[in-house]
Amino acid sequence: MTIQVQTGLLWGVEGRLVTVEAERSKGIPFFDLVGLADGAVREAKVRVPRAVEASGYAWPRRRITVNMAPAHIKKEGSGLDLPIAIACMAESLKMVDGRLDGLVALAELGLDGRLRGVQGLLPVVEAAKRSGLRRVLVATENAREAALVEGIEVHAFETLRSLFLWLEGKGESQSFAFLPELSSQTSKDCFSEIRGQELAKRAATIAAAGAHHLLLSGPPGCGKTMVARRLPGIMPPMTPAERLEVLRVASVTGKIAHDVSARPFRSPHHSVTSAGLVGGGRPLRPGEATSAHGGVLFLDEVGEFRRHAIESLRQALEEGRLSLVRAEGVMELPARFILVAATNPCPCGYYGSEQRGCRCSPPTVARYQERMSGPLMDRIDLHVLLDAPSSKQVLGQTETNAEPSAVMAQRVDGARCIALERQGCANGDLGARESLALALGDPGINDFLCQALDRHLLSPRGLCRVLRVSRTIADLEGSQHLHLNHLLEAMNFRPMTPRNVLASAA
Ligand SMILES: [Zn+2]
Repeated sequence: MTIQVQTGLLWGVEGRLVTVEAERSKGIPFFDLVGLADGAVREAKVRVPRAVEASGYAWPRRRITVNMAPAHIKKEGSGLDLPIAIACMAESLKMVDGRLDGLVALAELGLDGRLRGVQGLLPVVEAAKRSGLRRVLVATENAREAALVEGIEVHAFETLRSLFLWLEGKGESQSFAFLPELSSQTSKDCFSEIRGQELAKRAATIAAAGAHHLLLSGPPGCGKTMVARRLPGIMPPMTPAERLEVLRVASVTGKIAHDVSARPFRSPHHSVTSAGLVGGGRPLRPGEATSAHGGVLFLDEVGEFRRHAIESLRQALEEGRLSLVRAEGVMELPARFILVAATNPCPCGYYGSEQRGCRCSPPTVARYQERMSGPLMDRIDLHVLLDAPSSKQVLGQTETNAEPSAVMAQRVDGARCIALERQGCANGDLGARESLALALGDPGINDFLCQALDRHLLSPRGLCRVLRVSRTIADLEGSQHLHLNHLLEAMNFRPMTPRNVLASAA
């Protein structure tokens, strides 16, 4: 007799269902696992019999073969302990009829018979729902996460013993229905805490509204990190689908227990490898770019990052996703975020500062800024030069009527809605052709841009950037048409290329 139990595995941030089947036969007691079991799954051979015996049940003195299908998928992770235990013990238990119908089980077992939560439960529960399964058996610590999926009955247990008793109809489970909220915490960081830096705040508003990538350049301690950290708090509210995507990533990376009501903010150290940034390893773990999906990826001291690591972000910046080629196939990971890069403008940090003079020679400044050119800078629409706060600002002697994040967020949301209604995506996601199309129709604007191009004030690539940003500025104003003042403001955020650094330093 063969008993089948449904469970699931991860493929990137997607769940895949797996069937665990156990067959008992007479013969020398033996326990074998077949079906491409990897390290942690093979260890189930040790954990499962010990956990069953610790629960007060006898491990069958039989020849037991456990097969996991489909056979071509590599079985990774420890969550298969529970379905293996149920499949092996099903014949010994006096199970209530139909208890295993429409059910998916996923949890790790301790040697003492406790059920432990697993990472990446949410995508598996979603896969179960898509396949028409309606009940999940999980460890208590995973119960809230499983209950995020609507239409699924969650049965949670502390121990294998209580789960077996429930299967036999002798005990109760802790059951949960749909609970859409994990926590209602909101970020405590507010833009009103930043004194001055009005240009950076304006750029942050534009970045959030248009999903534009942002470069903050300025001396140490001028508040680059403070601005970046507050950016997720003014981005438009997440749609339910976006929220589920963010939760799915948090589930896979084991961060779902923390605050996930807000958009993510990730700030990897500059020593991060490309695998750390875009994902890799065995079993494959998503990288920082995927963890930042739906939020902000902050690269502080961007010039210090390894070139190879930065270049690995190119696909994420262009397509909002990452494809990793594996022996088993191509894995797609979501990676749509606002990139905020921060840097000193020069080695001493005070190039362009009004508070302190820069000690670097113009060629040194140019060389320093050139280090950041390349694929990353090509995708950054907004470049902002911040200055160190003045002594009055430091001492708090200036007027503070700084706008709180909540007010900025309202404006951002309004602008984003206009863009979505017009073109179905944020302005920052427009390609070159669509960006150029924004300038059509207005002869005044066309003339202005022609002159800027002819005088080499703008490059063709820079033109696309300026148009995307000016469209967002117009949306923030609620203006249907693009006006010259929108373009002029957008021109302020064009990159400081080494050439204009040299020109202005001369
Ligand atoms: Zn300098």
